[in-house]
Amino acid sequence: MNLGRRDFLKALTVLSAGSLAAASLPSLGRLRAPSDKPNLVILVLDALTARNLSVYGYARQTTPNLDRLAARATVYHAHYSAGNFTTPGTASMLTGLLPWTHRGINLGGLIHEQFVDQNIFSLLQDEYFTAAFTQNYYADILLGQFRRGIDRHIISSSYYEQVDRPLLGQYFPNDPVPTYYGLDDFVFSGRSVPSSPFFAFLADLFQETASLEDHPQAGYPYGLPNNFFYSYRNDVAFAGIQQEILNLAQQSPFLGYFHMFSPHEPYRPRQEFVGKFPKLDMPFKKPTKFSTLDISHESIQARRMDYDEYVADVDSEIGKLVDGLSAAGVMDNTCFIITSDHGEMFERGEYGHITRFLYDAVIHIPLLVLAPGQTARADVTAPTSGLDLAPTLLHLAGKPVPAGLGGRILPGLGGRADSERSIFTVEAKENSSFGPLIQGTISLIQGHSKLIHYMGYPKKPETFELYNLQDDPEEMKDLFEADTSTASSMKEEMLDSLADANRPFVKNQSK
Ligand SMILES: [Zn+2]
Repeated sequence: MNLGRRDFLKALTVLSAGSLAAASLPSLGRLRAPSDKPNLVILVLDALTARNLSVYGYARQTTPNLDRLAARATVYHAHYSAGNFTTPGTASMLTGLLPWTHRGINLGGLIHEQFVDQNIFSLLQDEYFTAAFTQNYYADILLGQFRRGIDRHIISSSYYEQVDRPLLGQYFPNDPVPTYYGLDDFVFSGRSVPSSPFFAFLADLFQETASLEDHPQAGYPYGLPNNFFYSYRNDVAFAGIQQEILNLAQQSPFLGYFHMFSPHEPYRPRQEFVGKFPKLDMPFKKPTKFSTLDISHESIQARRMDYDEYVADVDSEIGKLVDGLSAAGVMDNTCFIITSDHGEMFERGEYGHITRFLYDAVIHIPLLVLAPGQTARADVTAPTSGLDLAPTLLHLAGKPVPAGLGGRILPGLGGRADSERSIFTVEAKENSSFGPLIQGTISLIQGHSKLIHYMGYPKKPETFELYNLQDDPEEMKDLFEADTSTASSMKEEMLDSLADANRPFVKNQSK
């Protein structure tokens, strides 16, 4: 076997990282030519809604560091996730496909097998060293599906964790997906009923460990951040990924995907961010029709405060990370992308993102791109989608975009701004992944117009809503009956697109 210098260095770096499992070793036989292509880093902050960020005009100064970094970044003002929770939002970002195509639509779901080698890692792997890390277990299930494209799947370790949990997946790093479905999900998630006294005992033990972490800890008055499996400190986690990126920079060009759990709930800001913001009645009370949680307005406002404090904490870590990479010279040849997998909502009787709603709070996400050598701010106001990440990364890497990949090259990074393009988001967690999409919520954005369609929910009529996001950004005034020409043309496009997406599954059903 002939080993190139880069492959040798690559193997050496991997071998020297003691916490890694043997399964993370890259293929030593694959050779890559030296390259001057930019490194690509994607930093995903889970459940970070654009709505609550001062960089997008929010009343509380939640993101002084993003505000500062924006001065030398391209800032996307109408960027939308393709789903409203981790699985569809992340899968669409990584594959460039809509949820109704890749079918990662259920909580903890998988994408369909024919798409597992169409992802940013596989598409760039011939020229890039590819690495991925996530603290979100739903995202890690997807990374497990994409393992053939990932040279280094950084498995969460004591490096990032403060309190170990009896997470069986840690002991099966080669088989995270079957382990999740066979053991972790069943035993630990609380979503399934344990089938034996032994599993019930394990589940109780797990819950007990979890509740211990709700007590105040040094510097964390609400308890340590946790991702439902283990507790962590954001300063330690962000310092950890900074070190990982510095290691990866030894073998440019690399593609690094870092999907942090914060500011996902539970919202656990450090002490210095608690009590930082004034009280606001923001937004005003909205109607709670269709809400399944029906939480009081006052309670939602309290949760919004906790979230905002937590966002400010996470923003401080992003600032430290980028400053550290700049000081080390890594940013000079790295395209650094800051985004989220979906938003978070605090309105209409609900908070969080496990919802049927697709209002802007839960799908309007941040996107800031710091390109190598960029010294001035650029603003993009045309609507863009999480799907655009995959074709844009290929373009930045100087590679052609294959047919069949959805999304478009982002304006400002080689693509053309198109304010009238169609941006879809699909919520279908209660729908079978293998049947036609008959129950769920779909939104379509075109220019300033947004059509929302609720379909197939029990005890709820088929409904459409139409909003003008420019005149009515809080989505209060439904224009579906009033603006019939916009309503009918957008409805026709939505239903035609849905029928196209359903066609293969309708055929399956009729067999
Ligand atoms: Zn998420």
